[in-house]
Amino acid sequence: MSTKISPKSGSMNARAIKISTAIFLITAIVLATAPSLAQAKPKKSEIKSYQERGGITRFEEYLPLSPELGAPPGSFYKVNVYVINLKEGIVLVDCGSESLYSELRQEIGKRFPHSSILAVLLTHGHADHAGAGHYFVEEGMPVYASVADSYLIQMGMNFPGVPSDFAYTGYTPTELLYGGETIFGLQVIPTPGHTYGSLSFLHVKTRTLFTGDTTICYPEDDRDPLDMTFELESMTLQMEDEASLHLQLNSLNSLLELANGGSVKEILPGHNRTYHGKDVLSYLEHSIVVVTQALSPEVPPA
Ligand SMILES: [Zn+2]
Ligand SMILES: [Zn+2]
Repeated sequence: MSTKISPKSGSMNARAIKISTAIFLITAIVLATAPSLAQAKPKKSEIKSYQERGGITRFEEYLPLSPELGAPPGSFYKVNVYVINLKEGIVLVDCGSESLYSELRQEIGKRFPHSSILAVLLTHGHADHAGAGHYFVEEGMPVYASVADSYLIQMGMNFPGVPSDFAYTGYTPTELLYGGETIFGLQVIPTPGHTYGSLSFLHVKTRTLFTGDTTICYPEDDRDPLDMTFELESMTLQMEDEASLHLQLNSLNSLLELANGGSVKEILPGHNRTYHGKDVLSYLEHSIVVVTQALSPEVPPA
C-alpha cells in the first residue's frame, strides 16, 4: 500500500522544533528547581508489565533522558504499550521506543508465547510511541498509522533541532488510517491536537478507550523526583501553537461527550496509569482544564 504524505507536513516541521524547544525548557526548569538531583545515579531503561481490565496488558517503558538535554543524570519518563489479546492473536496499541524494542519483544514473547502479533496500531508519530515501528515493519507485521502523521513517521522526527532522544529510524507505515474505520474491534477516532494525526481507539466490546497523548496525566503520578513524565507532557502542551491547542480541546470535548454517553468504561492513555469507572470523567475533565490553562494562561495579578 502506498503512503500518502500529509498535506500539513510543512507545519509538522515547525511543530517538531517547538517540541524540542519544550524539552530544553523542561531541562532548564528541572536544573533550576532541583540542583541537588544532579548527582543522582542514572536509572537503567526497563519495562514493567501490568494486567489491566478486559484482558489487556500494559507494558510500561522507562526511558532515560540523555545528559545532552541538560537534565539531571538519572531523569527518565514512562510510556505505555498496550497488548490486546484476541482469539486470533494479539494487537499492539503503540510500540514504544526504538531503544527498547528487543526488551519489549522479549517481554511480549514471555507473556504471550503462543500468540502472533496481528498488527501494531499507532496513536501518533512521536518517538516514544512509534519509535520501534520499523522493526515491526521489517518483521512483516502490519503497522497502522494516521495519514496525517505518516510524514512524521517517515521522517522519524529527524527534523532540525529535535534532540536525538526524540528522533528515530523513519519508516513507511504499511496501513493508513483516516478515522471512522473499525479494525480488530477498535473504532478509530481522530483526535487531532497533540499531533495533527493523533488517533484514539475505542475497543467497543469492553468500552476501553486508548487515548495516546491526547489526554494528560496528573503530576502526582510521577512519584520519583527524577520522573519527568508529567513535565514532558505539560511543557510540550505549553509549546503547542494556539490552533493545535484548540484542536486538542475539541478532541477532548468529543471524548468527554462519548464518555458521558456511556461508551467509555476505561481510559488507557499513552503515559502513566489507567482510569476506570468514575475516574474516566474526572480524568477527561482534568485534561480539559490543563489544555485550557495552556491556551489561556492566567494573567498574574498586578
Ligand atoms: Zn506524543
Ligand atoms: Zn508520549
